[in-house]
Amino acid sequence: MDCLFCKISAKEIPATVVFENERLVAFEDIHPQAPTHVQIIPRKHVATTLDLTAEDRSMVGEIFEVAAGIARDRGFAEDGFRLVVNTNPAAGQTVYHLHLHLLGGRSFGWPPG
Ligand code: AMP
Ligand code: ZN
Repeated sequence: MDCLFCKISAKEIPATVVFENERLVAFEDIHPQAPTHVQIIPRKHVATTLDLTAEDRSMVGEIFEVAAGIARDRGFAEDGFRLVVNTNPAAGQTVYHLHLHLLGGRSFGWPPG
């Protein structure tokens, strides 16, 4: 499958991996929008949130658990951080492999752009 994040998961494309296990990979975003900008993805190819099924429930929970762990490790958990999942064109999704953006290390405005 011609999917960028599947290739990162398979180590066919290099990335700065910060966490991985059998189910998930977390790596530094190539165009960081904050001092920390990490992508947390399932190894399983799921294109968007709309493609999730009941069997993915524990994987989704684990993605959030990993995000919180990285935020704690990097020392900005208590200050606060932003978790984002863009879905489809109106939200600006560009990579159609489910990913949770972890953004931290600065303040974020609301509403988002
Ligand atoms: P989205 O717009 O939500 O689909 O986000 C896709 C994200 O993937 C963007 O923040 C990109 O900077 C990031 N990205 C694209 N290519 C790579 C890559 N090769 N390695 C790491 N991050 C990437
Ligand atoms: Zn994929």
